[in-house]
Amino acid sequence: MTASRPSKSASRASGALRLDTPVKFLKGIGERRAEQLERLGIRTARDLLWHLPHRYIDASTVTPLVRAEVGQEVACVGRVVAKGVVPTRRGLRIFHAVLRDESGVLECVWPGQAFLDRSIAVGQTLLVSGPVRFYHGRQMAPREFVILADADSDAGADAEPLAGGKVLPVYPATEGLSHKVIRGLVDRHLDALIALSDDVLPEPVRRSLELPALPDALRAVHRPASGAEAELGRRRLAFDELLDLQLMLIRARAVAKRSRSGVAFTVRRDLTTRLRESLPWELTDDQHRAAREITADMTAPDRMHRLLMGDVGTGKTVVALFAMLLAVENDYQAALMAPTELLAEQHAATLEGLLAPLALRPELLLGRQTAGEKQAIRARLATGQARLAVGTHALMQESVSFHRLGLVVIDEQHRFGVEQRAALIGKGAAPDVLLLTATPIPRSLALTLYGDLDVSTLRQRPPGRGTIRTAVRTGAQRERVLEFVRAECGKGRQAYVVLPVIEESERADLRAATTMAQSLAARWPELRVGLIHGRLKADDRDDVMRRFRAGEVHVLVATTVIEVGIDVPNATLMLIEHPERFGLAQLHQLRGRIGRGEEESFCILLPEGPAADRLHAFAATEDGFKIAELDLEERGMGDLIGARQSGGFEVRHARLPADADLLTRARQLAIDLIGGDPALQRPENQRLRERAVARYPRAVELFRGG
Ligand code: ADP
Ligand code: MG
Repeated sequence: MTASRPSKSASRASGALRLDTPVKFLKGIGERRAEQLERLGIRTARDLLWHLPHRYIDASTVTPLVRAEVGQEVACVGRVVAKGVVPTRRGLRIFHAVLRDESGVLECVWPGQAFLDRSIAVGQTLLVSGPVRFYHGRQMAPREFVILADADSDAGADAEPLAGGKVLPVYPATEGLSHKVIRGLVDRHLDALIALSDDVLPEPVRRSLELPALPDALRAVHRPASGAEAELGRRRLAFDELLDLQLMLIRARAVAKRSRSGVAFTVRRDLTTRLRESLPWELTDDQHRAAREITADMTAPDRMHRLLMGDVGTGKTVVALFAMLLAVENDYQAALMAPTELLAEQHAATLEGLLAPLALRPELLLGRQTAGEKQAIRARLATGQARLAVGTHALMQESVSFHRLGLVVIDEQHRFGVEQRAALIGKGAAPDVLLLTATPIPRSLALTLYGDLDVSTLRQRPPGRGTIRTAVRTGAQRERVLEFVRAECGKGRQAYVVLPVIEESERADLRAATTMAQSLAARWPELRVGLIHGRLKADDRDDVMRRFRAGEVHVLVATTVIEVGIDVPNATLMLIEHPERFGLAQLHQLRGRIGRGEEESFCILLPEGPAADRLHAFAATEDGFKIAELDLEERGMGDLIGARQSGGFEVRHARLPADADLLTRARQLAIDLIGGDPALQRPENQRLRERAVARYPRAVELFRGG
């Protein structure tokens, strides 16, 4: 850079606003505000500009209080005219507030949230949204609320834009910093901040996409004249975000393919053939195809970097085993890493069974083994005497070395951090990598999250498995449902009973696992009831699971911690309390724990209140990919990405599958750009590179040099 730039202190002294100016130097923001903003992740002026509304309210979507009808889900605005905390007979403390607007009044209740009494005051104007039910009259139990105006501000000053038919942005807020204050701050600085933001997207590209320029898009999301305008602005920001992600992924894939050529294994028709001949069943077509895809990768000189995606029970392990044996018959070692000891043990047991006819045995390496045991296993791995290793994180420890590691398989790969996977992979010169996941995701999402991987999918389930029947029942049928569970367990079956929370104190309105375990134990003295939840130590959790697997525990009451992929064929029943509190994909994961034996299995959903369509849709299908689509539509992108935080991707504005068109365009543009200028070094691409790297600092390495 030739032009001399003013130093930071000089620019601050001269008061020039820059995007990286700390927010505390902005007008209207002092130390205290700055600290509050920090809690929302807002440190600089740029962060403030990019703190976008998560919702908009426009007049047409606000329902007058009298028209909020029972059974509907509505948004209303009103002034608090009365409030208080009332205890119920069950000892639950309910915060309630009465709202008034021109049309009349509506009572709102927040069970178990007495603390709201401190933040909600008479005279405030509230926006509330949630379901309206009947309980001594119409009542809303808000899922969300926003304080639109404080008690002391003049009447409804803030409700006025609503009346005017304008669109009101609603910002994510935090304690002590209301949405309204944030809106004021953003509004005050918006024009100045937008003036500092320039558009790095080449103009012809932007035009061809029919998206607004960046400054217009930012204005549209913060100060929209209509919902449609805000949406168009959002799509522009979404495109940029998807483009940055695809630039990084496409570049990562190119670098991986080029710089690290791997082993070109050859099919020797030795161990792999013998496994195929000794299998007690036929592979499914999907398994055949996946095995072929993997073989093609492994026999090619490039390194394999493939994801094998399939619901629980679709038979990923045996496919992985073929890959492992291909490495072994080429005189290499193969390692399989699982996220928990329980899963590692299970894999080892499965492999042992399948490998017995081949006179091969996997080594199992776990953290809890004695120093002596570990020492012996490490020695066998280091000398190459052991060909196949299964284990937990223990495998990637520094003390572990392999003689000649040719293939790394990582189960439930999203549960490992990038650096953990790298640690294991680094134990070979250039091993092929096969990642497994039991979380099927829609194609659009796969391209986003796994755009740097090749993907094989297993959709079919092997035949000979008992079917799973899913039923939605009402609270009135609870007794009969419990009786059914007891009867089945009496016949020697086992059951999971799943609840959303551990203790009642967390959410007084929800049934909790500990209470349920006690009441079932008292109710069914002839059955052994176990309890498992996230606050148990990992060892204790594994212990309960082992006893369940061994049949010593008949009924396992659990929160969602039951291991993905845990295989207890005799467990044929699952009762899910409060299924309305779970995402569809999560319900599907839970359901995957049953239906693993030959017997028919039953999954029974017991929602609070009337069952929503979503639960019936869930009950009607077992296709994990279909459910993943529904789930993505229901929850949007942010959540799903959140669940895979270890991937470290940032997708805040894009919504899939709705924005699938943008994703396709972004991916194509990234392919074209990187095809023509691999490290984006040309002057015209420099700003695109800088922005992608700013969003993904770890991509710096990727774009260094040609
Ligand atoms: P996943 O890891 O995908 O959840 P597993 O690999 O654990 O599934 O396989 C589930 C069960 O199905 C295992 O008991 C396995 O032996 C069995 N299995 C795998 N493939 C087949 C097949 N083609 N036919 C019958 N059973 C199979
Ligand atoms: Mg598995």
